[in-house]
Amino acid sequence: SDSSSNVYNVVLIGENGVGKSALASIFAGAADSMGSDSELYGGEVCEQTMTVDGESATITLLDTWDPQDESKRSQDQCMQAGDAYLIVYSITDRASFEKASELRIQLRRARQSEDIPIILVGNKCDLVRCREVSVNEGRACAVVFDCKFIETSAAMPHNVWNMFEGIVRQLRLRRDSK
Ligand code: GDP
Ligand code: MG
Repeated sequence: SDSSSNVYNVVLIGENGVGKSALASIFAGAADSMGSDSELYGGEVCEQTMTVDGESATITLLDTWDPQDESKRSQDQCMQAGDAYLIVYSITDRASFEKASELRIQLRRARQSEDIPIILVGNKCDLVRCREVSVNEGRACAVVFDCKFIETSAAMPHNVWNMFEGIVRQLRLRRDSK
């Protein structure tokens, strides 16, 4: 979308079961609790105006990623649609963490010349006894992939709004550096 406006597409990607839809429904649910504008399109796309650091930003959150897509067409669309990405894994599922690295590489290939804001998101941090990926591993991976890192819990919820605010701040940094 137009980088001079404050309207951005943010895309959730990651393995099945990591909590993308749970994170998206917290974002969507804020329409009621915050009294802000929100629109739902079939549950997979939600538009929300947030105020971050005293400035408003309209985020269209896309939860349309399908890891099982055979044709890869919708995956390609997702890889092109975002102004920013939340690459989600579950801290209880090492395979999903490895998948997140693959997705980072896939995204870099699809959008080679662009400096796209990305947050690597380690979700389900409430499930401490089932942890398979340490905080340090997540952080180190984000350093390698040159992106931000946060651990969240959609269940508690914990850090979910910090994540959405973080991606807005990243989008603004990129906008202001142009
Ligand atoms: P998606 O396939 O990535 O969209 O994952 P879902 O949002 O459908 O979540 C998969 C399962 O994990 C569901 O049973 C959720 O209730 C559960 N889940 C999602 N986020 C969390 C979390 O932060 N903590 C816990 N304990 N469960 C979660
Ligand atoms: Mg889902």
